[in-house]
Amino acid sequence: MWTLDRWKEARRVDHVTLNVLGFKFHPRFRDPDGRPNLKVFDAFVTAFWQANNNFDKVTALGEIVAATSQYIAGFVALPAPGGQDLRYLTPVQDLLAEANNDLNLICTVAAAVQRNADIVAMANNQVIVQKVVLVNVFYLAAVGAVPNLVPIDQLIDGHIVIANGLASFTAANLQVARHNAVATLVTDFNGESILVEGGPGAGLFDESRLPIFRLIGYLNAIALPGRVDVVYHDGFVDADVQGFTARRSGVYSGRTPNARPVVLVRRTPSPGGGLTHPTTLAHELGHALTDCGQHAAQPDDLMAAGAIRGAVNQLSFGEKAWFRHNPFAV
Ligand SMILES: [Zn+2]
Repeated sequence: MWTLDRWKEARRVDHVTLNVLGFKFHPRFRDPDGRPNLKVFDAFVTAFWQANNNFDKVTALGEIVAATSQYIAGFVALPAPGGQDLRYLTPVQDLLAEANNDLNLICTVAAAVQRNADIVAMANNQVIVQKVVLVNVFYLAAVGAVPNLVPIDQLIDGHIVIANGLASFTAANLQVARHNAVATLVTDFNGESILVEGGPGAGLFDESRLPIFRLIGYLNAIALPGRVDVVYHDGFVDADVQGFTARRSGVYSGRTPNARPVVLVRRTPSPGGGLTHPTTLAHELGHALTDCGQHAAQPDDLMAAGAIRGAVNQLSFGEKAWFRHNPFAV
């Protein structure tokens, strides 16, 4: 992405740049009133450079795509009545190209044409083609346990209904669907307990030690139609944690989830986690779909960290497009 200074240089189409003794100065080029004001894009470029995480960067880039596309679509060139000189169009086209380059870098899937079409359509409140995230559902329990899966499946179904009902998901026309209506019970990998056995944390999940290593080993060994694995369980060793995602690009205690990203959610809210627990699945799926483990800075964003996330759970146009264009939403 261009720096703000570089963009300002590009948009100063009504100035004549003269190089005098190495200094640049910009005498105003006199032009009739009514010429386009390209300063409107400054705020988005500023937001990109202020972002300290990829969710907020994609938000700014999505705004650039939406705004520049709208501008370009409405541009009337001379000599048509009311038309403008092409010097007002070129920098905006170049800014759009800059945004596309960064979106392709961050979002990894180079789907610029379709992604931009989605962003423009969403910005105009138009319906876009539905994408489905098919998930394989598991319940992780202690070796020998025989849990009643009925209430567990009802809880998971409820969390899927909540995710699908988020305004951010409906506007993105993104829906989560289960491959298996009854959760698959999993307790061990090659005879070794996945949950912590004995001692402190017995019966709980540890995302930084053997449990994640063994769970990924188990899931890597099975072929399934779903694109994401969703694993519910009784709780993490760290009581504050409500969800965790092992992403395709990550390494977890020595193993990478080669088959599918793995989303873990605890069955019950952690202490103080009642507000965000119902949408923890939606949040973690966001990490899985984007293959991004960072967090958005604003509490209203679905991808804000649990400690600050509120009840709004919105996604920007850029984030929605990122949720839609990846290997896991089809
Ligand atoms: Zn998170």
